[in-house]
Amino acid sequence: MAMCRAGLLGSRLPHPFRILCRQMSTEPRVAVDRLRQSGLLRTQGLIGGKWIDAYDGKTIPVHNPATGDVIANVPFMGRNEAINAISSAHETFTSWSKLTANERSKRLRKWYDLIISHKEDLALLITLEQGKPLKESLGEVNYGASFIEFFAEEAKRIYGDIIPPTIDDRRLLVLKQPVGVVGAITPWNFPLAMITRKVGPALASGCTAVVKPSEYTPLTALAAAELALQAGISPGALNIVFGNAPDIGDSLLESTKVRKITFTGSTAVGKKLMAGSASTVKKISLELGGNAPCIVFDDADLDVAVKGTLAAKFRNSGQTCVCANRILVQEGIYDKFASAFAKAVQALEVGNGLIETTVQGPLINEAALEKVESLVKDATGKGADVLVGGRRHSLGRTFYEPTVLGNVNNEMLISSQEVFGPVARLLRFKTEEEAIQIANDTNAGLAAYIFTRSMPRSWRVSEALEYGLVGVNEGLISTEVAPFGGFKQSGLGREGSKYGIDEYLEIKYVCLGNLKEV
Ligand code: ADP
Repeated sequence: MAMCRAGLLGSRLPHPFRILCRQMSTEPRVAVDRLRQSGLLRTQGLIGGKWIDAYDGKTIPVHNPATGDVIANVPFMGRNEAINAISSAHETFTSWSKLTANERSKRLRKWYDLIISHKEDLALLITLEQGKPLKESLGEVNYGASFIEFFAEEAKRIYGDIIPPTIDDRRLLVLKQPVGVVGAITPWNFPLAMITRKVGPALASGCTAVVKPSEYTPLTALAAAELALQAGISPGALNIVFGNAPDIGDSLLESTKVRKITFTGSTAVGKKLMAGSASTVKKISLELGGNAPCIVFDDADLDVAVKGTLAAKFRNSGQTCVCANRILVQEGIYDKFASAFAKAVQALEVGNGLIETTVQGPLINEAALEKVESLVKDATGKGADVLVGGRRHSLGRTFYEPTVLGNVNNEMLISSQEVFGPVARLLRFKTEEEAIQIANDTNAGLAAYIFTRSMPRSWRVSEALEYGLVGVNEGLISTEVAPFGGFKQSGLGREGSKYGIDEYLEIKYVCLGNLKEV
């Protein structure tokens, strides 16, 4: 998944917000009250423009991972709610797709403006339910909003073509039309941006959507939807349901009204959705797991490499699919890099994301923590060195110490699995060829990073890496204007940029014939 330029290395919070955060970090209830007053603490699903409870009244709690407190109880929805949300999106498609591109653009732009004017509240909500530090949350709001702004503009540029005919009394046209109802399933690590990256182009192109956010982080999605309604996005164009994920997923897959599935999440669930889309031959785009290599060559600028690797690895406590998963360091710079990197990691402050100095929040849940723990145990059991960290954090709950493991090798599970946590592992390599071979020796192919001062090497290695995104001397590379997506089992399709809107469009060829006769 993607991120913003703010974050680990981001700027300080605005002054009044800093004071507020100090209060909220000691008393999270102050934060919840602030959100309630702003009208952004929505705790029901959204179907056809109406806020709805689960039909059987069931609810589930949304927890603050930093404290374990329940922030709110939300509906636990299932098939029936999903089916009604699909019908609502289907009915609204007729009118929404007929609006002029200009009109859709204006409403999306208004939505963008509202997100930006509520960015502090939205950031608070992200930190409360997801745990990332506020600076990163503010970065996510800017990044998430940027997709709405970009696709508001792009709505007006969905051009067709006129093709020179092969028979002189014909004219051949290509039209681009919205695919229809889109089912969007999103994860917890970017509660806002993963939604806007899908819904922005969907609504811009004239599609309507049923969104299923993660049950861990539905509140940000609901707040964004509240702002969408205020912006004039037609009721029914954006529906939000969540609860029983497999049932809601199956309802989306089985419905012939849903013409496209877009998903960000685990490779296992992505494969299920791909298989499930076959019975109704839906379009599908998938943004799945990564296993990002970060290659530090002997000729790298040490400071740039340490700073870039730190950002690529430790943003969101390592919980993004573009996080550097394997740090390959050439033998000539290995010792210098390992010691400078370990020192930088040692200095990362862990805590509640509402505290201004925090740069590492908690992991999302106990299962995530246990996975990190068992991978570290396996690696150290097989001879990896712990350079920093390597344990649960003394803060308890799901906090884990930012960790660096040295001398990791291919025998260790951690070298092939996505750790999705604050654990960096360093592998030693000798030659450029060897680094490329190790980097490509995986089924994943999302993001890769290289650090080198050599221009020819930058080109050679970027071209040789089987990855959808390559950062050269840069650890934070996602932006709304560039295509995001993976090779191999990291996914299908691209999000963001001018390419991103194609995923929501059908191409229609129209032949006007017999022009001389009719
Ligand atoms: P993660 O392990 O990061 O939570 P998942 O792939 O499990 O990744 O979750 C990503 C999204 O997919 C979440 O919204 C989750 O609820 C949803 N999801 C999980 N299982 C299914 C399923 N069987 N069908 C549809 N959506 C699912």
